[in-house]
Amino acid sequence: MQCPRAVIFDLDDTLAESFQPPKHQMVTKLGLLLDRIPLAIMTAAGFTRIEDQFLSKLADSPYISRLYVFPNSTAECYVCESGKWHTAYSESLTKDERHAITVALQESLADTELFPAHPKHEPMIIDRDAQIAFATLGLDATLEEKQSWDPDQAKRKRLVAILEKKIPQFEILMGGMTTIDITRKNVNKAYGVRWLSTHLGIPANEMLYVGDALYEGGNDAVVMSTGIETRAVGGPDETERVIDELIVACSA
Ligand SMILES: [Mg+2]
Repeated sequence: MQCPRAVIFDLDDTLAESFQPPKHQMVTKLGLLLDRIPLAIMTAAGFTRIEDQFLSKLADSPYISRLYVFPNSTAECYVCESGKWHTAYSESLTKDERHAITVALQESLADTELFPAHPKHEPMIIDRDAQIAFATLGLDATLEEKQSWDPDQAKRKRLVAILEKKIPQFEILMGGMTTIDITRKNVNKAYGVRWLSTHLGIPANEMLYVGDALYEGGNDAVVMSTGIETRAVGGPDETERVIDELIVACSA
């Protein structure tokens, strides 16, 4: 493997199991790679989770200022300056936009044939300013419940089709096993890759994107339109091996 000039990682099922904290050695290895090249994390998750699980442990790195954190489907980018994290940009939704999205979601849900109710879990709308996350099973469902709810994405595809008619002015993405994420139009991981490429002055094709969902229809596949090199992984264990390879390649 050749050393890329920057590496971007997806979070869920790439750096950590879905919604779980990363393993200790994963964060240690990310730190070692950060000593060598700029890194980024791109995820539909909110900033607080990444801050708790990664940033607190990487804070002492002398290279922390070249770690770029893109939460909310890259509707925002956070960077660290003088020990403080702040937004390098934010594609925030206005109050009216967030209201329009919430109403569209509620209307779509009222059609139970379109979106049948789960016997135990209620859907939940999570407003994170730059992104509205719609958790179809709320936040307390077990991994098994999530895996069996929409395994072929059929329920969410129907919901997305309806939402695309109601609110075509927004980006509507499927994330994880049970979530739909809504951001400003064209704000998705490809937007984040292009922003980072411009910001670092590194062509996308000299950077590497590592993710578990690079297959067609997967939530990482959109990055391919930027020309970035990609490496598909089956989960965090494989990602760890990729990081090991990168550390060797970037130490030469
Ligand atoms: Mg993923």
